[in-house]
Amino acid sequence: MKILVVGSGGREHALGWKLAQSPLVAEIISAPGNPGLAEIGRCVAISATNASELAAFAAREQVDLVVIGPEAAAAAGLADALKLLGVACFGPSKAAAELEASKAFMKEFCVRHKVPTAEYHVFDDAVRAKAYLGNREPPYVIKADGLAGGKGVVIAETRRQADAAIDEILFLRKFGAAGQRIVIEDFLPGEEASFFALCDGQTATPLAAAQDHKRAYDGDKGPNTGGMGAYSPAPVFTDKVRDQTMEEIILPTLAGMKAEGRPFIGVLFAGLMITPEGPKLIEFNVRFGDPECQTLMRRLKSDLAPVLMAAANGALGSMTLEWDPRPALSVVFAANGYPDEPLTGSVIRALDAARRVEGVEIFHAGTKRDGDGTLRAAGGRVLNVTAIGDTLSQAAARAYTAVGLIDWPGGFCRSDIGWRALAT
Ligand code: AMP
Repeated sequence: MKILVVGSGGREHALGWKLAQSPLVAEIISAPGNPGLAEIGRCVAISATNASELAAFAAREQVDLVVIGPEAAAAAGLADALKLLGVACFGPSKAAAELEASKAFMKEFCVRHKVPTAEYHVFDDAVRAKAYLGNREPPYVIKADGLAGGKGVVIAETRRQADAAIDEILFLRKFGAAGQRIVIEDFLPGEEASFFALCDGQTATPLAAAQDHKRAYDGDKGPNTGGMGAYSPAPVFTDKVRDQTMEEIILPTLAGMKAEGRPFIGVLFAGLMITPEGPKLIEFNVRFGDPECQTLMRRLKSDLAPVLMAAANGALGSMTLEWDPRPALSVVFAANGYPDEPLTGSVIRALDAARRVEGVEIFHAGTKRDGDGTLRAAGGRVLNVTAIGDTLSQAAARAYTAVGLIDWPGGFCRSDIGWRALAT
């Protein structure tokens, strides 16, 4: 098989790394890729959101399977463009990607198909939105409707903060067109967990559970980010919660999407709150979580290539996956200034020494390589230092040993990834 991985982050590097281990895979190409993917195969300079050019490239190269990494590529209609050219694609159509691209669509869909989620209202008018808050209790949860890079959610402790958030989104257009509408919903108490399932349009294969850390600094403090680290398995996610999530959330969603003429193919990622009444849906994403994916790829024993191909072809059937029982943990090494204003361009050295630590794999997330081979930071989240171990604390010790060996004064990371699970 010749596989095209679309995207340029740590998630795509981890997917490419795993797919490259398959005896069925002859070549991995990535677009646009990154220096980590460049060590696995060819990178072509086509943007992940340039659906028509990517599809034409895949057809010309006779690619057997395209794997979509980021939601923006799905929302740009890449799966649809590939379908027209007869190229198999693991990733949702534009219509199916609405589950992530519009929170209002997602909430209305949940009501139609009785998927448990927080009570909500949609507004495009700030005065009405503020009036609605008058009858509610804090904390207030305010979300931009569209794609805002994981930053479009405000949990406001006071009315003043909530009103300011409404104005920033609806009037000041902090998130551009993604903030034409807002969703205000009830705050759900509980512990969060991420659940991932591979979907083929009608059925789903659950993946192992993983949990990430969204806040920038230790102790879950500081601004929200795309994710500062993750670990798998997640102790909060028991087999019972998994079965309940499949029954009550994933399978009804697949049936509903099919019935509405937008069958879902790809990774359905449910952000859940484990409440006393059971799991409730916070959000859907239509792709792997990043950096959760890195920990899952580290633990997956089954060959990923035939599974993604089966999902793309609507033929998952009763396929199951085999996992390494050992835990994996990934530490995000980010550029100083992330998430607000990451300073890019700083030089990263000694990756090879870090890579030699037992159980460690380093995925590139936001790097670039100069012509002379110098590696530099080129984004907010730059490296994902991922380790597997007999215990979670061993995995953490290995990952942090590797972090300590990387010579990069321009970066920082949290020192407590996995703390919740390590404390139990
Ligand atoms: P989202 O982008 O919708 O996943 O929201 C980002 C984060 O905000 C989530 O990971 C939760 O920590 C928090 N959050 C979102 N919605 C709620 C809610 N209804 N209740 C409590 N926390 C929430």
